[in-house]
Amino acid sequence: MATIDAADDRLRRWIARHRRVFALTGAGCSTASGIPDYRDDQGEWKRRPPVMIQAFRTDPAIYRRYWARAYAGWSRFTSAGPNDTHRAFAAWEGAGTLVHLVTQNVDGLHQRAGSRAVLDLHGRLDVVVCLGCGERSSRADLQTRMAAANASWRPEAATAPDGDADVDGTIVEAFAAPRCERCGDLLKPDVVFFGENVPRDRYARACDALGGADAMLVAGSSLMVYSGFRFVRLAHETGLPIAILNRGRTRGDHLAELKIEGDTGSILIDAVGALA
Ligand SMILES: [Zn+2]
Repeated sequence: MATIDAADDRLRRWIARHRRVFALTGAGCSTASGIPDYRDDQGEWKRRPPVMIQAFRTDPAIYRRYWARAYAGWSRFTSAGPNDTHRAFAAWEGAGTLVHLVTQNVDGLHQRAGSRAVLDLHGRLDVVVCLGCGERSSRADLQTRMAAANASWRPEAATAPDGDADVDGTIVEAFAAPRCERCGDLLKPDVVFFGENVPRDRYARACDALGGADAMLVAGSSLMVYSGFRFVRLAHETGLPIAILNRGRTRGDHLAELKIEGDTGSILIDAVGALA
């Protein structure tokens, strides 16, 4: 307990020293909402690695499995609500010294907690994009369409981070995977898959935001994904002070002036509460 109190105080003092903080958040911020993390405390895969974009585009079996699992996991994903971490960031933004929040999460929970200055680095799971005609549509509507096309299909399973679920192979074969209603091409959630890059303009906006910041905080990310880590590296190169709050080690620990290990929710609520 003494360790946690000391950590709280260090973060509180760090937050009080800065006026224009750029925050980067990851999966560890949403685990308390019931959305599991991909990786353990050592940054290693806890389950099978996620779907790669090339396989998704070119292998019909992988495409079908992705959508079967996504369909099965959707209700659990949509029932997740914001937790203390999301609420702390929203309160911090309200206090005026958190200026930019870039999240690697695709769950929209920061926005639901009231944060406005959010940039969804890896996109949003509640939007679907057609790989052929580029049309964007509602994932909720697609769920309804998949339900109609799979009326007798009944999966039960545990959920993975991007809202999908473990579904047995033979069950997957019976699933009717969705296609674009307009052009018939493949549909993908509007999120950055592994093997894909963050869209250039989105990355540029995040870099601009970092350029206007006087410090960077990382919360709930192991920074194993390069698209997140490169902001830490950029911040370090430009001399910004960096603080990292995460349950385990991260790829950026050696670049941080402050590293706190622990529960992001309780530590942030306490640290940000002191601003009010
Ligand atoms: Zn289309």
